[in-house]
Amino acid sequence: MADQYDVVVIGAGPAGYPAAIRAAQHKLRVACIDEWKNRDGSSALGGTCLNAGCIPSKALLESTELLHRAQHEFAAHGIGASGLKVDLAAMQKRRATIVKTMTQGIAGLFKAAGVTALAGHGRLLAPGRVEFTAHDGSKRELLAKHVVLASGSVPVELKSVPFDGKQIIDSWGALELDAVPKRLGVIGAGVIGLELGSVWRRLGAEVVVLEALPDFLPMADGAVAKEALRHFRKLGLDIRLGTKVSGAKRAGGAVEVEYADASAATQRLVVDTLVVAVGRRPNSRELLADGTGVKLDERGFVVVDDACRTGIDGVWAVGDLVRGPMLAHKGKEEGVMVADLIAGHFGEVNYRAVPSVIYTAPEIAWVGQTEEQVKASGRPYKVGTFPFMASGRARAMEAGAGFAKIVAASDDDEILGVHIIGPMAGELIAEAVLAMEYSASTEDLQRTMHAHPTLSEALHEAALAADRKAIDIPNKAG
Ligand code: FAD
Ligand code: NAD
Repeated sequence: MADQYDVVVIGAGPAGYPAAIRAAQHKLRVACIDEWKNRDGSSALGGTCLNAGCIPSKALLESTELLHRAQHEFAAHGIGASGLKVDLAAMQKRRATIVKTMTQGIAGLFKAAGVTALAGHGRLLAPGRVEFTAHDGSKRELLAKHVVLASGSVPVELKSVPFDGKQIIDSWGALELDAVPKRLGVIGAGVIGLELGSVWRRLGAEVVVLEALPDFLPMADGAVAKEALRHFRKLGLDIRLGTKVSGAKRAGGAVEVEYADASAATQRLVVDTLVVAVGRRPNSRELLADGTGVKLDERGFVVVDDACRTGIDGVWAVGDLVRGPMLAHKGKEEGVMVADLIAGHFGEVNYRAVPSVIYTAPEIAWVGQTEEQVKASGRPYKVGTFPFMASGRARAMEAGAGFAKIVAASDDDEILGVHIIGPMAGELIAEAVLAMEYSASTEDLQRTMHAHPTLSEALHEAALAADRKAIDIPNKAG
């Protein structure tokens, strides 16, 4: 007799586990299947984000930023910090402990909510029928009124640069290195390349980043990308744009990478470790039996509508497995929306207000459209920018680099995009997301009181600057 559930979720990453918890909050009978295995063979909930993504990367970014600040900023505060020592094993142990605590936390949340956690592989056999294969190989069938597919994504492997798990590694490998490579190569100047490149650079590695595109961070606002490139190069990241990698091989204990530079000349780069971070692909390969009716697009994403319906009754898909940015918080909101819809409640995700954050120093964050996108749309617009150099709090923090920028419509004053590069940008962007969620105007932000002295005043002043009413910087003529 098959086990019966109201909802079976396949995948317990940041898209799947919130779907399971919210469904259980609606008093539905829920099981969540996850096959994640750590290097030691143990199962863990939380998916890529908690085990090999967001959380471990932020742990290392924090540790290494502290080191960098001690080395480069303490002196300005009048603090001598000579003889600093790095204990990489302790730093990595801290990272692993945080991950373990967080993933065990999800197990606790499941228990408290009454979600049945099943460790193993899930496969949709047909609408309402899921095959569960436990890690010991035993199989059983689960029946469910609704199935939520949340199997996430995996790193893209380049055919010409196959992973060897030792010196040619993916982002998970790059988070768990037990020694600082003298020379680190990174293929891809995307979010992972920049975050993990920063980590190992701060720990002393010579880091070369090979990026195929001629432009740096094309998804970010142009002014932010330009400022960011300057800072990353100052940190010592050797970012080479417009390069085409043709192959890599192990040679004499090192890795030799062959690539064409921006002028098409063949170049060789010799590194000790090579990280391939050229994007991720949806994990849809062993998810669906033949004939389920669930459609995949040409890149393997499950095709869904705005409400994450697959078009097959009772089958939903969320997170990295479906279109849209591959971000934990986007997946979380989709998981919650789907559970609410399954329970007959209202549910919606506002895809126009998905924040992006790159947790480097300076930090980069944005929401909405870039100035280039607004310009291309033809809508008349205005821009307000405020440099952190003019922020008392940022100066007190020795963090005056960067700026906050608001792009708003000139006709009805609606905020169309907010772009921040500077201290705590990832926290500051929340105000902008909320503003955009409520279709706020720059006037709304202008009339909102911001505590002084705080970094958030930068956003306030940027809103004022959009109408040339800034108080703390000279306004541009015009
Ligand atoms: P996943 O987190 O990939 O989870 C899917 C889960 O499903 C996994 O546990 C997998 O084992 C399991 N699974 C897959 N197939 C099956 C199956 N058939 N049966 C059972 N289980 C299955 N995003 C951010 O928003 N902020 C960040 O700071 C950030 N940092 C990142 C850093 C790195 C190094 C990486 C790699 C990613 C980062 N991301 C970040 C992206 C983020 O991790 C993903 O967007 C997020 O994890 C996607 O959530 P998900 O639930 O869709 O998938
Ligand atoms: P990405 O899409 O951010 O960047 C990949 C980069 O590799 C791009 O710049 C691309 O042009 C480049 N590239 C692709 N093929 C190449 C090739 N053959 N040679 C050289 N360059 C090549 O992907 P990622 O950095 O691998 O990250 C994967 C996903 O994880 C992203 O969707 C990202 O949103 C998510 N992530 C988010 C965060 C965060 O929110 N802070 C952090 C890490 C990862």
